[in-house]
Amino acid sequence: MKLGISSCLLGTLCRYDGGHSKNRFITEVLKEYFDFVPYCPEKMVFTTPREAIRLVKSKEERIKVVTSNGNMDVTSTINDISKELANQIEYDELCGFILKSNSPTCGMERVKVYPEEKGMSEKIGVGIFAQHIKSQYPFLPIEEEGRLEDAWLRENFLMQIFAYFHLFEFLKTEPSVKELIAFHTSYKYIIYAKSHKAYKELGNIVANHAKKDFIMLLELYKDAFLRAISLKGSITNTYNVLLHLYGYFKKEISKEEKCEILETLEEFKKEQIPLIAVIKVLNLYITRFDITYLKTQKFLNPYPKELALRSKIEAYK
Ligand code: SF4
Repeated sequence: MKLGISSCLLGTLCRYDGGHSKNRFITEVLKEYFDFVPYCPEKMVFTTPREAIRLVKSKEERIKVVTSNGNMDVTSTINDISKELANQIEYDELCGFILKSNSPTCGMERVKVYPEEKGMSEKIGVGIFAQHIKSQYPFLPIEEEGRLEDAWLRENFLMQIFAYFHLFEFLKTEPSVKELIAFHTSYKYIIYAKSHKAYKELGNIVANHAKKDFIMLLELYKDAFLRAISLKGSITNTYNVLLHLYGYFKKEISKEEKCEILETLEEFKKEQIPLIAVIKVLNLYITRFDITYLKTQKFLNPYPKELALRSKIEAYK
């Protein structure tokens, strides 16, 4: 699985000041699961070290990129290389991208924009390279290293990447209708945890009441699926999914066992225990009653468990 990364996050000395912005989560944890494809638009067109650049709003409300001493307008230079590298993403077959925060080139949001005359900056900008990636690949999982400090965003992002990769691998196999139904079914509870409406929409596509051509149907499914997995999960929706899973075996267990499970679910809802603790309990029963339908659910196994993303209470909100 290939992940695009702003080069400086990998420790490459490509920042304007000749330094790097190495990120440990990327270089020590994610490296076990992904092949990194580094991108540094600025390094391609400038020397290192170099004069820093910044986003500036002109009097006509146009965003420009200028050197921080204000002597040079480098908007078209940065724009052209950003466009060229964004085009490259398609050929690199990435399944996600981690961008460097706050950069006028790579920053995904809240990048400082300065007024042309003297005055305070506002955190309202998007880096030029990030803009190109977002507009060309609206469903590519994208995050910034800073936002990945948040356990909730981190969990959502990695779940999205693995689902994104799985979908494209699945489509490469030229699936049959039956295989599409099986794929769709396996994502039922992951998507429920994000949005019931999205799962319903996907279900309508798969049902194909309008008898659409299957190739067209797969295209529709792909877009709706990518949109669905880009949504963030919530505690309430996840709690409802857990209740659904419990429903598969509740009639088979004792009153005491029921109380214990429901108490565990409540503890999760009240943010007292992490999701992994609840999943462990439910898995005991799913195995005990050999519930094949649930065993195939991606919700129970969305990514390598060693990532331990569900071990933090803060991963759900
Ligand atoms: S933020 Fe982007 S352009 Fe700047 S040094 Fe890092 S990779 Fe290069």
